[in-house]
Formats: sequence, C-alpha cells, structure tokens
Amino acid sequence: MSREPSAPAGKIPVAVLGATGSVGQRFLTLLADHPWFEVVRLTASDRSAGRPYREAVSWVQAAPKSERIAGMDLLPTEAAAVAGCPLVFSALDAAVAGPVEAELAAAGHLVVTNAGSHRMDPDVPLVVPEVNPDHLEVAAGQIARGVGAILANPNCSTIGLALALKPLADAFGLERVHVVTMQAVSGAGLPGVASMQILDNVIPWIAGEEEKVESETRKILGRLRAHGESGIGGWFVDHPVEVSAQCNRVPVVDGHTACVSVGLGRRVAIDEVRAAWEGFAGEPQRLRLPSAPARPIHFLDRPDAPQPRLHRDLEGGMAASVERLRPCPLLGFRFVTLSHNTVRGAAGGALLLAELAVAKGLLTGRGLPAMASTAR
Ligand code: NAP
Repeated sequence: MSREPSAPAGKIPVAVLGATGSVGQRFLTLLADHPWFEVVRLTASDRSAGRPYREAVSWVQAAPKSERIAGMDLLPTEAAAVAGCPLVFSALDAAVAGPVEAELAAAGHLVVTNAGSHRMDPDVPLVVPEVNPDHLEVAAGQIARGVGAILANPNCSTIGLALALKPLADAFGLERVHVVTMQAVSGAGLPGVASMQILDNVIPWIAGEEEKVESETRKILGRLRAHGESGIGGWFVDHPVEVSAQCNRVPVVDGHTACVSVGLGRRVAIDEVRAAWEGFAGEPQRLRLPSAPARPIHFLDRPDAPQPRLHRDLEGGMAASVERLRPCPLLGFRFVTLSHNTVRGAAGGALLLAELAVAKGLLTGRGLPAMASTAR
C-alpha cells in the first residue's frame, strides 16, 4: 500500500479505525463504491497491524470484500497511520476508542465514531441526521477555531428509537417512554456471544445498554443551548422526556427490535400518530445525501410486523420500520419498531452523519471542495 492517500480527484480520503471488527467490515462494504469517500487507510489492534487485511480479518459479511481492500496492509491505530485523511471513521472497541479519538480530533481530523466513549461529552454532538442535524453546529464551531472534532453516532438501539420518537415529539410533545429491546448478536461485535449462551435463549442484560438508551435519547431529542443561557451540560440541553429501558440479547443475527409505549404531550387520534411517521423526512432527504433512505420510517401496515428477518434490510438497512400501533392503557400508545443495528445503527448511520457534515461544509477549506449537496 502506498504511504500517501491516493483517492481519485474529488473524493475525500478516509481512514477506518477498527476495520477488522463487525462494524469495521460493514463500513468497508458500504464504502466500496461511495461517491464522496475513498478508503485509503485501515487500522486495527497490534494483533492485526502489519498484516494484509485479507489475512487478519474474519470476514462475516454476505458481500465479498473488494480486492483492493483485501490487499491493503493493516496499520497500527495511531495518529501517524491516518495522516492525510481529514475524515476518520472509528469502529474501535470502546475500551480503546476514547483517547485515540480525542488525539485525532486534537490533531485536526474530523472523527465520526461508533464507540460510546465520547457520546455524552458536553462538546460532542450525538447525531441522528434526520433528528438533530442542528447539533452539528457545535462541531462546526470547533473546526472554525482550527481544531478537529468528534461526531458521535448514537448507540444502535437508540438510533431506531430516536427515529420513531422524533416525529411524535415534534407533532404532539413527548413526556414518557417505556422501551423493551430485543437486540441481535451482531451488536456484541466479533466473535460476539458464544453460541452456547445465546441459542435457545434470551439474555435479559446487556452491559451499560439501558443507561445508554435512556441518556442518549434525551440528548438526541434535546436542543442546543441558546447563547447566554446558563446551566450544566455544555452545549446541549436534554429533552425532558422520562425514558425507562429494558434491553435483551436474543438469537437474531442482525436487527434490533423495540417494543415501545409512549405518553404524548396532548390527546391525539391514532391516525395522527401514523400520519406523523408517514410524513416524516429530514435534512438527509432534503439534501439527497448518498446514504439517505428515501423514507427514514416505513409504516408496514401488517399485523405481524416488523420482523428482523423480513424488514431489517429496508432501503439497504437505512430505514427504520414501525407497526403494531395501538392504544396503551398505561401511557397512551404503544408500537414496535425495528432497525438494522450494524447498518443504520452503526456504519450506515455514521456514513450518513459524515455526509451531512460534508454537505454542511465542515470539511470545506481543508484543501477539499464543498461537496454538491444534491450529488448522488
Ligand atoms: P468488534 O467486532 O469487537 O471490533 C473491534 C475493533 O477494534 C477490531 O477491529 C479490533 O481489531 C479493534 N481493536 C480492539 N482492540 C484494539 C486496540 N487495543 N487498539 C486498536 N484497535 C483495537 O466490535 P464492533 O461490534 O465492530 O464495534 C465497534 C465499536 O462500535 C464498538 O465501540 C461498539 O460499541 C460500537 N457499536 C457497535 C455496534 C454493533 O452493532 N456491533 C453498533 C453500534 C456501535 P483486532 O481485530 O485487531 O482485534
């Protein structure tokens, strides 16, 4: 592999950190023919560094890896490895992501991360592009001051939940959420949950997951602090919604399902709830970003949906689905939502976030042209 990024003219050279893992592999699949980004650097742990990608990786994607990627050498995960890449995607193990990502941001890179290490930092935007694109302003401010920035992709279950809640919060107000998740084994990374633990079983505990769903949902649905407004929490003010989460690991390969009950801010008819989802679109759709689904939420209109095996791949895995909408005697309404955890919930969501950042000019002026926001 050449030591200098050699992306085709017009494409932004990018690095993928943690390229051998479950999410790293998904990044490489989704980046294979990306119109804006070209992968020029791959990193992993010292166990893998120095080896060709094809030898070090245990490939678990259905799509084959490209010959070009297969032949690239894995680099150690350090600043020198990603020199020349203004944009870095991180799929690092959370145990090591924190300091590495902070170092790269300080060195001027825009780091779009899937790891949980910085999600709740007071100066790090935690963004679902259709839900809170305005939170990117904080990173734009950091970049304008001459440093890089970290943009965090939320927890995989939280992304699907936030997509389903956003239209309801905007249209009716949102006061209370009770959510029970059924999460796929691919969410546990590689090699994942042992077959003897997960087959014929449900594990009613995923370390730290319930706390993430509860706190991240409030940050994502929250707002930017107004100039001069005081308070704790840095640039972001949490949404006041109360969230109670219970998270379970189930023997599904991909796709996180969530059973949700919501208490809304006012009385509404059930048809209004459905209409709020069906009419929902955000900045990625308006800007026609390359990874944006045409419709971020699909109401499936069948009584036994959504199901992971049938519905996780809607719009290439980038759309969430909802159904089983009905009254809830405790909170008001209940429904089931499903999203693909390694696509929309990880690599695909991070890619969409990076596209949004580029379209909003966060990389402009770093030797890179502003991207045409309507380019497909
Ligand atoms: P994974 O399969 O365990 O992959 C972890 C990656 O990190 C591998 O490439 C591994 O390289 C690398 N790594 C481990 N220790 C390292 C070290 N000391 N220095 C440098 N690199 C190291 O995990 P994953 O499921 O892909 O998840 C990646 C991140 O995304 C995690 O932070 C996770 O919490 C988050 N996330 C995952 C999902 C999901 O659905 N899986 C969804 C959302 C967010 P080696 O192969 O060399 O060990």
